[in-house]
Order: sequence, then structure tokens, then C-alpha cells
Amino acid sequence: MALKIERMEIDDAGANPKKLAESIVKQLPPGTQAVPVREIAKAIDIYEIREAVLDGLEGGLIVPENKANGAILVHADRPETRKRYTIAHEIGHYVNPNHRAGSPEGFRCSRKDMAIHSAKAGDRHAKMEAEANLFAAELLMPDSYVKSFMRRRVGANLDHVIAMAEWFEVSKEAAARRYISKLETPAAIVFSCNGHIRYIQPNSTFPRMSLWNGAPVPDGSLSATSRAAIGTVTDTVEIQGHIWLERSAGLSLGEQTVAQQNGYRMTLLTVEQLEADGEEEEENWQAPRFR
Ligand SMILES: [Zn+2]
Repeated sequence: MALKIERMEIDDAGANPKKLAESIVKQLPPGTQAVPVREIAKAIDIYEIREAVLDGLEGGLIVPENKANGAILVHADRPETRKRYTIAHEIGHYVNPNHRAGSPEGFRCSRKDMAIHSAKAGDRHAKMEAEANLFAAELLMPDSYVKSFMRRRVGANLDHVIAMAEWFEVSKEAAARRYISKLETPAAIVFSCNGHIRYIQPNSTFPRMSLWNGAPVPDGSLSATSRAAIGTVTDTVEIQGHIWLERSAGLSLGEQTVAQQNGYRMTLLTVEQLEADGEEEEENWQAPRFR
């Protein structure tokens, strides 16, 4: 049976990307695991998802002014997880009443656009792209689905990230970003390539780090020394805090890493407060707030 999505309910959600995604998610059949983005697109009058090798673009949306219907373009030479993300991103432009195409050819979204997560005031293009990306993350990994997925998995572990990517049919990087933001304990994921840090995604309770984007993965870290095969997640090892952190007194730092294809690597850092003297102190301890 074809999926039914009421566009009225989407219209009622306004322009907030998270609310827009929720208005669709709540119309999905119970027990949905990987969100069916292609069926969703069809159900809201996207009459075609055209796959083509696009020059300089990841995806696009061709849509009339009134957005009564539309067509999505997707880069054909990509894994399915990436295509799903691109389709979700374009749906994000389609359903958002504030999004207007920058050219007569419609929305044209580059790989760089797909990685925008914040925008400076007044930068309309970046704001729309960041909103489409937020929408895509919320649609592909809905809050309620992620919560029930994580409830069944204790502690912070890269194995959970990989399982989450498979469960939701998203890239490991997209899963990792979502996973970190939902962990209740201090944690960060370092994305690196060929021994250099691409970027670091800490959650709100993780202490300040001593490294920056583009810097080499630090000497002495597990990430720099691990010889584990591609796809093999290492055990979590305790590592000297100063290797990654600006201030590490009183903290125990855990590091776990996995090598990926083409020189890419994901590293999970977790911190714990070292045992305080006396139980009372320990009971009163709260997650450190460094920023
Ligand atoms: Zn876009």
C-alpha cells in the first residue's frame, strides 16, 4: 500500500525544520525503522527523483513558485546512504515555506552546502542550507526513534554508531553526529583523514580540547598508533588526557577508534571524573561545564 502523508499537517508545522520533520515522522506507520524517504517524496507530490551524474552538485530541487509539486535531482554516483541524505535535504527545501530557490533552475545544492550546519546572520543561502541539513537529520534519525535505539545500548561505543548507521540507513558520519548529540555523558567524535583532523564534534558536556581542525592527529593517541584493520573497532583504552584535552586534571580520558575507507577515521573520546576522596563529594559531582 502506498504511503500516505497529509500535506496539510506539514503546512501546519510552520517553518521550523525540526517541527516540519516531526510532522512527517508522526504520519509514518508504527514500527518504521529506516525512514522511507523515496516513498515520502512521492507521497508529497515529488513526481520524479532523477539520478544523474551531476557536475559540481550533490542534488537539486526543481519546483514551481507555489511548490504544488516538484522533482528532485540526486547525484547517481553515490552510495544509497548519501542519496537518502540528499533526498531528505531536498525535501527540506520543498516543505519549508521560507525556502525560495536562488535561480530559475531551482535549488542547486553542492557537497559543501550539504555540510553547512550554522549560518552567519544575514547569510540567507547558508541559513536555508543549514535548515535543510537539520531537517534531513531530523527526518532520517527522528528523536523518538534514536531515543529508543539508544535506550537498548549502554555506554558510549563506536559499535553503537555503526549499528545506528545500519539501522537508519545513513552514513556513519551522520549517525555519529546524531549519536554524540544524544549521549548524556561527556563525549566527542574526531573525524580525521590521512592523519589530519577534519573536524571535532563534542557534546555540550565535553571539556575543551587542545586541537583544531587541520591539525595532525596527536602523537601518542590511539588514533595515531592503531594498526587495527579497516572497519575493526578497537577496544576503548585509557589515554593520557593532555594528548587531546586543554585541561585534564582529575579526568580519565577514554579513546576508541575505527579506520574507514580512503584514509578516513572516526575516534570516540569519553571522559570520566576520577574517583574523588570521600563519597559525599562524588555524590555531589556534576558534569564539568567548560564552555
Ligand atoms: Zn540545499
